[in-house]
Amino acid sequence: MKKALFLDLDNTIYPVSSISEYLFKPLYDLIDEFKNEMDKEVLKNAIYQISRRPFHYVADEFHFPLVLKNRGIELLRNMSYGMPMKAYEGYDLLKSIPINKFLITTGFSKLQWSKVEMLGIKDDFNEIHIVDLEISTKTKKDVFNDIITRFNYKIEEILVVGDDPESEIKAANELGLQTFLFDPDDKHPNTMVTYRHNHLKNILNYIN
Ligand SMILES: [Mg+2]
Repeated sequence: MKKALFLDLDNTIYPVSSISEYLFKPLYDLIDEFKNEMDKEVLKNAIYQISRRPFHYVADEFHFPLVLKNRGIELLRNMSYGMPMKAYEGYDLLKSIPINKFLITTGFSKLQWSKVEMLGIKDDFNEIHIVDLEISTKTKKDVFNDIITRFNYKIEEILVVGDDPESEIKAANELGLQTFLFDPDDKHPNTMVTYRHNHLKNILNYIN
């Protein structure tokens, strides 16, 4: 019997693609200023990754010029989202599961909190943790560990739900926690997970 769900936010509770065009426009414009300094293919891939992974990681991985990385971070640090947002189908079912839920998301505090607000999901969670690389060196793994200790959970009582093999899924695997990979487009067929599905409602099958 599961006692708690650890949920990711971006691309787990709502699709980033639904807000990225508007949200990342200023960032894409900024990157465009540097297009002559970077390889076209690399840039295209980097822009795709920006909607899926934290900007810091993308900037490092694709060797963004330092000035671009710093200006991008500055932009994102002050960004918030103020338009209506819609959760994935199945989220309503998920939130009605009568066990403790924790939202653990990586990103810039102001922006992540604005998404929580626009989705109207604040009260669905016992705790909300923003892992903000600007403020702290704490990782998702640290936050998972901290919750487990404070709530005295057993490892088998937790299910970690997320979309990113390099983030929450990796942290969960390192701690021996069970995982539910939400993979609507079958992007990660080879990732080591406990369960994988293309619909959130299937989580209901794995909490007993
Ligand atoms: Mg995610």
